[in-house]
Amino acid sequence: MIPDAPAPSGPVPGSQQASPPQDNPIRVPAPRLSDKLPPLPQKIPGFAIEITPPDLAPWREGNTGLAGVHRLTGPAPGPHIAITALMHGNEYAGAIVLDDLLRAAFTPKRGTLSLIFLNLNAFGRFTRNAPTVSRFVDDDMNRLWCRKLLTTTEPSLERDRVATLLPYIETVDTLLDLHSMLWPAPPMLLAGPAAGGRSLATDIATPPLVISDHGHATGPRLIDSHHFTGTKARACLLEAGQHWSRDTLAVTRETTTRFLALNGLTNAAATALPPPQQATVTDRIVARTASFTFLPTISGGQIIPKRGTLIAQDGPDEIRTPYDNCLLVIPNFRTARSHTAVRLARLTTASPS
Ligand SMILES: [Zn+2]
Repeated sequence: MIPDAPAPSGPVPGSQQASPPQDNPIRVPAPRLSDKLPPLPQKIPGFAIEITPPDLAPWREGNTGLAGVHRLTGPAPGPHIAITALMHGNEYAGAIVLDDLLRAAFTPKRGTLSLIFLNLNAFGRFTRNAPTVSRFVDDDMNRLWCRKLLTTTEPSLERDRVATLLPYIETVDTLLDLHSMLWPAPPMLLAGPAAGGRSLATDIATPPLVISDHGHATGPRLIDSHHFTGTKARACLLEAGQHWSRDTLAVTRETTTRFLALNGLTNAAATALPPPQQATVTDRIVARTASFTFLPTISGGQIIPKRGTLIAQDGPDEIRTPYDNCLLVIPNFRTARSHTAVRLARLTTASPS
Protein backbone atom coordinates (compact mmCIF):
# COMPACT_ATOMS: atom_id res chain seq x y z
CA MET A 1 0.00 0.00 0.00
CA ILE A 2 1.36 3.37 -0.91
CA PRO A 3 0.77 5.55 2.12
CA ASP A 4 -1.30 8.70 2.10
CA ALA A 5 0.41 11.88 1.08
CA PRO A 6 1.33 14.22 3.94
CA ALA A 7 -1.65 16.11 5.27
CA PRO A 8 -2.01 19.58 3.72
CA SER A 9 -1.58 22.57 5.95
CA GLY A 10 -5.11 23.88 5.37
CA PRO A 11 -8.50 22.21 5.06
CA VAL A 12 -9.10 20.27 1.88
CA PRO A 13 -12.13 21.61 0.03
CA GLY A 14 -15.02 19.23 0.35
CA SER A 15 -13.34 16.89 2.78
CA GLN A 16 -15.70 15.46 5.35
CA GLN A 17 -13.97 16.44 8.55
CA ALA A 18 -16.90 17.46 10.72
CA SER A 19 -15.05 16.31 13.81
CA PRO A 20 -11.62 15.23 12.64
CA PRO A 21 -9.83 12.56 14.64
CA GLN A 22 -6.98 13.70 16.83
CA ASP A 23 -3.41 12.75 16.06
CA ASN A 24 -1.37 10.78 18.54
CA PRO A 25 -3.76 10.62 21.48
CA ILE A 26 -1.42 8.76 23.75
CA ARG A 27 2.13 9.50 22.76
CA VAL A 28 4.60 8.91 25.52
CA PRO A 29 8.01 10.50 24.90
CA ALA A 30 10.84 8.33 26.11
CA PRO A 31 13.40 10.05 28.34
CA ARG A 32 16.47 8.97 26.41
CA LEU A 33 16.75 8.07 22.78
CA SER A 34 19.42 5.47 23.47
CA ASP A 35 17.03 3.54 25.72
CA LYS A 36 14.37 3.21 23.10
CA LEU A 37 16.18 2.97 19.81
CA PRO A 38 13.67 1.08 17.68
CA PRO A 39 14.43 -1.43 14.97
CA LEU A 40 14.27 -0.36 11.36
CA PRO A 41 10.79 -0.30 9.79
CA GLN A 42 9.54 -3.53 8.33
CA LYS A 43 10.25 -4.09 4.67
CA ILE A 44 7.36 -4.99 2.43
CA PRO A 45 7.21 -8.78 2.19
CA GLY A 46 6.64 -10.62 -1.06
CA PHE A 47 2.92 -11.31 -0.89
CA ALA A 48 1.76 -14.33 -2.89
CA ILE A 49 -0.29 -13.41 -5.95
CA GLU A 50 -2.93 -16.14 -5.83
CA ILE A 51 -5.46 -14.54 -8.19
CA THR A 52 -4.85 -13.69 -11.83
CA PRO A 53 -5.58 -10.21 -13.18
CA PRO A 54 -8.69 -10.43 -15.38
CA ASP A 55 -8.69 -9.70 -19.10
CA LEU A 56 -10.75 -6.54 -19.21
CA ALA A 57 -10.19 -5.80 -22.91
CA PRO A 58 -13.86 -6.52 -23.78
CA TRP A 59 -15.03 -4.02 -21.18
CA ARG A 60 -12.68 -1.08 -21.74
CA GLU A 61 -15.02 0.80 -24.03
CA GLY A 62 -18.17 0.47 -21.91
CA ASN A 63 -21.70 0.81 -23.28
CA THR A 64 -22.48 4.29 -22.01
CA GLY A 65 -20.07 6.51 -23.92
CA LEU A 66 -17.84 6.47 -20.83
CA ALA A 67 -14.83 4.14 -20.86
CA GLY A 68 -15.23 1.21 -18.49
CA VAL A 69 -18.81 2.12 -17.53
CA HIS A 70 -21.45 -0.56 -18.20
CA ARG A 71 -25.15 0.01 -17.67
CA LEU A 72 -27.39 -3.05 -17.38
CA THR A 73 -31.13 -2.48 -17.40
CA GLY A 74 -33.79 -4.74 -15.93
CA PRO A 75 -37.31 -5.41 -17.22
CA ALA A 76 -39.00 -3.62 -14.33
CA PRO A 77 -38.53 -0.10 -12.98
CA GLY A 78 -36.23 0.35 -10.03
CA PRO A 79 -33.37 2.34 -8.55
CA HIS A 80 -29.93 2.97 -10.02
CA ILE A 81 -27.49 0.64 -8.27
CA ALA A 82 -23.74 0.75 -8.94
CA ILE A 83 -20.70 -1.35 -8.13
CA THR A 84 -17.27 0.19 -8.65
CA ALA A 85 -13.92 -1.60 -8.84
CA LEU A 86 -10.31 -0.65 -9.58
CA MET A 87 -10.36 2.66 -7.72
CA HIS A 88 -6.82 1.49 -7.06
CA GLY A 89 -5.22 -0.22 -10.04
CA ASN A 90 -3.68 -3.15 -8.18
CA GLU A 91 -6.88 -4.08 -6.28
CA TYR A 92 -8.42 -6.27 -8.96
CA ALA A 93 -10.44 -8.83 -6.96
CA GLY A 94 -13.46 -6.56 -7.49
CA ALA A 95 -12.71 -6.33 -11.21
CA ILE A 96 -12.77 -10.15 -11.42
CA VAL A 97 -16.27 -10.17 -9.91
CA LEU A 98 -17.53 -7.45 -12.29
CA ASP A 99 -15.91 -9.30 -15.21
CA ASP A 100 -17.79 -12.46 -14.17
CA LEU A 101 -21.12 -10.59 -14.12
CA LEU A 102 -20.52 -9.08 -17.56
CA ARG A 103 -19.36 -12.38 -19.11
CA ALA A 104 -22.48 -14.06 -17.71
CA ALA A 105 -24.58 -11.29 -19.33
CA PHE A 106 -26.15 -10.59 -15.95
CA THR A 107 -29.48 -8.80 -16.17
CA PRO A 108 -30.89 -7.11 -13.08
CA LYS A 109 -34.41 -8.14 -12.13
CA ARG A 110 -35.37 -4.49 -11.89
CA GLY A 111 -33.95 -1.02 -12.26
CA THR A 112 -30.46 -0.23 -13.48
CA LEU A 113 -27.15 -1.77 -12.47
CA SER A 114 -23.96 0.08 -13.40
CA LEU A 115 -20.67 -1.82 -13.26
CA ILE A 116 -17.77 0.61 -13.35
CA PHE A 117 -14.03 -0.04 -13.78
CA LEU A 118 -12.69 3.18 -12.32
CA ASN A 119 -8.97 3.30 -13.09
CA LEU A 120 -8.20 1.07 -16.06
CA ASN A 121 -5.02 3.03 -16.80
CA ALA A 122 -3.50 2.17 -13.44
CA PHE A 123 -4.69 -1.45 -13.72
CA GLY A 124 -3.02 -1.66 -17.13
CA ARG A 125 0.32 -1.01 -15.44
CA PHE A 126 0.01 -3.94 -13.02
CA THR A 127 2.94 -6.34 -13.05
CA ARG A 128 3.64 -9.33 -10.82
CA ASN A 129 7.21 -8.16 -10.33
CA ALA A 130 6.17 -4.79 -8.90
CA PRO A 131 2.56 -5.29 -7.83
CA THR A 132 2.32 -2.28 -5.52
CA VAL A 133 3.30 0.49 -7.93
CA SER A 134 0.12 0.35 -10.02
CA ARG A 135 -2.13 1.70 -7.25
CA PHE A 136 -2.49 4.90 -9.31
CA VAL A 137 -0.75 6.77 -12.12
CA ASP A 138 -0.59 10.40 -10.93
CA ASP A 139 -2.83 10.79 -7.89
CA ASP A 140 -4.68 8.56 -5.43
CA MET A 141 -8.07 8.49 -7.15
CA ASN A 142 -9.87 8.01 -3.85
CA ARG A 143 -8.93 11.44 -2.50
CA LEU A 144 -10.46 13.48 -5.33
CA TRP A 145 -14.24 13.12 -5.13
CA CYS A 146 -15.21 16.76 -4.81
CA ARG A 147 -16.19 19.17 -7.59
CA LYS A 148 -14.33 22.07 -6.02
CA LEU A 149 -11.15 20.04 -5.69
CA LEU A 150 -11.37 19.06 -9.35
CA THR A 151 -11.24 22.70 -10.42
CA THR A 152 -8.51 23.81 -8.03
CA THR A 153 -5.92 21.03 -8.32
CA GLU A 154 -3.38 20.34 -11.04
CA PRO A 155 -4.67 18.22 -13.94
CA SER A 156 -3.79 14.55 -13.67
CA LEU A 157 -4.97 11.29 -15.15
CA GLU A 158 -7.01 10.45 -12.06
CA ARG A 159 -8.39 13.96 -11.59
CA ASP A 160 -9.61 14.03 -15.19
CA ARG A 161 -11.16 10.58 -14.82
CA VAL A 162 -13.04 11.60 -11.66
CA ALA A 163 -14.25 14.77 -13.40
CA THR A 164 -15.54 12.64 -16.28
CA LEU A 165 -17.28 10.11 -14.04
CA LEU A 166 -18.77 12.39 -11.41
CA PRO A 167 -21.91 13.45 -13.37
CA TYR A 168 -22.70 9.77 -13.98
CA ILE A 169 -22.00 8.79 -10.37
CA GLU A 170 -24.40 11.53 -9.29
CA THR A 171 -27.27 9.58 -10.87
CA VAL A 172 -26.63 6.56 -8.61
CA ASP A 173 -28.95 5.78 -5.69
CA THR A 174 -26.88 3.10 -3.96
CA LEU A 175 -23.22 2.20 -4.52
CA LEU A 176 -20.74 -0.42 -3.35
CA ASP A 177 -17.05 0.41 -3.88
CA LEU A 178 -14.82 -2.70 -3.98
CA HIS A 179 -11.32 -2.47 -2.49
CA SER A 180 -8.67 -4.65 -0.87
CA MET A 181 -5.65 -4.12 1.40
CA LEU A 182 -1.90 -4.60 1.09
CA TRP A 183 -1.36 -5.94 4.60
CA PRO A 184 -3.48 -8.94 5.58
CA ALA A 185 -6.41 -8.08 7.85
CA PRO A 186 -9.96 -9.30 8.41
CA PRO A 187 -12.38 -7.85 5.85
CA MET A 188 -14.49 -4.84 6.80
CA LEU A 189 -17.07 -2.44 5.43
CA LEU A 190 -16.19 1.24 5.66
CA ALA A 191 -19.35 3.30 6.07
CA GLY A 192 -17.81 6.77 5.89
CA PRO A 193 -19.29 9.69 7.81
CA ALA A 194 -22.96 9.53 6.75
CA ALA A 195 -25.86 7.75 8.44
CA GLY A 196 -26.90 6.46 5.01
CA GLY A 197 -23.56 4.75 4.47
CA ARG A 198 -23.76 3.20 7.92
CA SER A 199 -27.27 1.88 7.34
CA LEU A 200 -26.24 0.44 3.96
CA ALA A 201 -23.15 -1.29 5.38
CA THR A 202 -25.20 -2.56 8.32
CA ASP A 203 -27.79 -4.01 5.94
CA ILE A 204 -25.07 -5.71 3.89
CA ALA A 205 -23.49 -7.14 7.08
CA THR A 206 -21.10 -9.22 4.97
CA PRO A 207 -18.37 -9.09 6.26
CA PRO A 208 -19.80 -8.56 9.77
CA LEU A 209 -17.67 -5.52 10.71
CA VAL A 210 -18.80 -1.95 9.93
CA ILE A 211 -16.45 0.96 10.56
CA SER A 212 -17.69 4.55 10.50
CA ASP A 213 -15.11 7.25 9.94
CA HIS A 214 -14.57 10.81 8.77
CA GLY A 215 -12.45 9.95 5.75
CA HIS A 216 -8.93 11.15 5.10
CA ALA A 217 -7.51 14.63 5.65
CA THR A 218 -5.86 14.41 2.23
CA GLY A 219 -9.17 14.48 0.33
CA PRO A 220 -12.63 12.93 0.02
CA ARG A 221 -13.16 9.35 -1.02
CA LEU A 222 -16.01 8.43 -3.35
CA ILE A 223 -18.12 7.44 -0.33
CA ASP A 224 -17.37 10.85 1.25
CA SER A 225 -18.51 12.84 -1.81
CA HIS A 226 -21.40 15.27 -1.45
CA HIS A 227 -23.68 12.99 -3.45
CA PHE A 228 -23.32 10.21 -0.85
CA THR A 229 -23.18 12.39 2.26
CA GLY A 230 -25.43 15.33 1.42
CA THR A 231 -28.32 13.62 -0.42
CA LYS A 232 -30.41 10.48 0.05
CA ALA A 233 -27.95 8.44 -2.03
CA ARG A 234 -25.98 5.84 -0.06
CA ALA A 235 -22.54 4.30 -0.52
CA CYS A 236 -20.10 2.16 1.40
CA LEU A 237 -16.72 0.62 0.73
CA LEU A 238 -15.56 -2.98 1.05
CA GLU A 239 -12.00 -3.72 2.20
CA ALA A 240 -12.06 -7.41 1.37
CA GLY A 241 -8.65 -8.57 2.63
CA GLN A 242 -5.16 -8.85 1.15
CA HIS A 243 -5.12 -7.67 -2.48
CA TRP A 244 -4.15 -10.91 -4.17
CA SER A 245 -5.40 -13.67 -1.91
CA ARG A 246 -8.07 -16.20 -2.91
CA ASP A 247 -9.92 -15.47 0.33
CA THR A 248 -10.24 -11.82 -0.69
CA LEU A 249 -11.83 -12.80 -3.98
CA ALA A 250 -14.26 -15.08 -2.13
CA VAL A 251 -15.21 -12.26 0.26
CA THR A 252 -15.67 -9.86 -2.66
CA ARG A 253 -17.99 -12.32 -4.42
CA GLU A 254 -19.98 -12.92 -1.25
CA THR A 255 -20.44 -9.22 -0.49
CA THR A 256 -21.36 -8.44 -4.10
CA THR A 257 -23.92 -11.26 -4.17
CA ARG A 258 -25.41 -9.99 -0.93
CA PHE A 259 -25.50 -6.39 -2.23
CA LEU A 260 -27.32 -7.43 -5.42
CA ALA A 261 -29.87 -9.47 -3.47
CA LEU A 262 -30.46 -6.70 -0.93
CA ASN A 263 -31.30 -4.30 -3.72
CA GLY A 264 -33.71 -6.72 -5.38
CA LEU A 265 -31.58 -7.22 -8.49
CA THR A 266 -31.47 -11.02 -8.28
CA ASN A 267 -34.00 -13.74 -7.57
CA ALA A 268 -32.17 -14.70 -4.39
CA ALA A 269 -33.83 -13.53 -1.21
CA ALA A 270 -31.71 -11.37 1.07
CA THR A 271 -31.78 -13.45 4.22
CA ALA A 272 -31.68 -11.81 7.62
CA LEU A 273 -28.19 -11.76 9.12
CA PRO A 274 -27.04 -11.06 12.67
CA PRO A 275 -26.21 -7.37 13.19
CA PRO A 276 -22.56 -6.69 12.34
CA GLN A 277 -20.04 -5.38 14.85
CA GLN A 278 -19.88 -1.57 14.69
CA ALA A 279 -16.82 0.57 15.31
CA THR A 280 -16.07 4.28 14.97
CA VAL A 281 -12.66 5.71 14.12
CA THR A 282 -11.53 8.08 16.88
CA ASP A 283 -7.89 8.82 16.13
CA ARG A 284 -5.34 8.89 13.37
CA ILE A 285 -1.74 8.17 14.28
CA VAL A 286 0.74 10.00 12.05
CA ALA A 287 4.39 8.92 12.04
CA ARG A 288 6.67 11.72 13.19
CA THR A 289 9.85 9.83 12.40
CA ALA A 290 11.07 7.64 9.56
CA SER A 291 11.45 4.73 11.97
CA PHE A 292 7.83 4.24 13.05
CA THR A 293 7.63 0.55 13.92
CA PHE A 294 4.78 -1.60 15.18
CA LEU A 295 5.45 -4.29 17.74
CA PRO A 296 5.87 -7.69 16.05
CA THR A 297 2.66 -8.91 17.71
CA ILE A 298 0.52 -6.24 16.02
CA SER A 299 -1.64 -7.03 12.99
CA GLY A 300 -4.41 -5.34 11.05
CA GLY A 301 -7.91 -5.62 12.47
CA GLN A 302 -6.54 -6.61 15.86
CA ILE A 303 -8.57 -5.57 18.90
CA ILE A 304 -6.30 -4.53 21.78
CA PRO A 305 -8.17 -5.35 25.00
CA LYS A 306 -6.44 -3.01 27.45
CA ARG A 307 -6.04 0.77 27.41
CA GLY A 308 -2.40 1.86 27.56
CA THR A 309 -1.03 -1.14 25.66
CA LEU A 310 2.16 -0.39 23.74
CA ILE A 311 1.56 -0.98 20.02
CA ALA A 312 4.38 0.92 18.30
CA GLN A 313 7.54 2.99 18.64
CA ASP A 314 7.87 6.25 16.72
CA GLY A 315 11.50 7.14 17.14
CA PRO A 316 11.82 7.64 20.90
CA ASP A 317 8.06 7.90 21.46
CA GLU A 318 5.85 5.08 22.58
CA ILE A 319 2.43 4.75 20.96
CA ARG A 320 -0.18 3.28 23.30
CA THR A 321 -3.87 2.52 22.95
CA PRO A 322 -6.14 5.22 24.42
CA TYR A 323 -9.01 2.96 25.55
CA ASP A 324 -9.99 -0.66 26.11
CA ASN A 325 -10.98 -2.78 23.10
CA CYS A 326 -9.19 -0.56 20.59
CA LEU A 327 -9.49 -1.75 16.98
CA LEU A 328 -6.46 -1.15 14.74
CA VAL A 329 -7.75 -0.08 11.31
CA ILE A 330 -5.44 -0.86 8.37
CA PRO A 331 -2.03 -0.32 9.98
CA ASN A 332 0.69 0.56 7.50
CA PHE A 333 3.75 -1.49 8.41
CA ARG A 334 6.13 0.62 6.35
CA THR A 335 4.99 4.10 7.25
CA ALA A 336 7.00 7.07 6.03
CA ARG A 337 7.37 10.18 8.16
CA SER A 338 4.27 12.43 8.15
CA HIS A 339 2.09 9.62 6.82
CA THR A 340 -0.76 7.82 8.57
CA ALA A 341 0.52 4.75 10.40
CA VAL A 342 -2.80 3.46 11.73
CA ARG A 343 -6.28 4.60 12.64
CA LEU A 344 -7.85 3.62 15.95
CA ALA A 345 -11.51 2.71 16.26
CA ARG A 346 -13.70 2.28 19.30
CA LEU A 347 -16.07 -0.67 19.27
CA THR A 348 -19.63 0.48 19.71
CA THR A 349 -22.82 -1.52 19.89
CA ALA A 350 -23.27 -4.69 17.92
CA SER A 351 -26.35 -3.17 16.32
CA PRO A 352 -26.67 0.19 14.55
CA SER A 353 -27.38 3.21 16.71
ZN1 LIG B 1 -8.26 0.70 -2.38
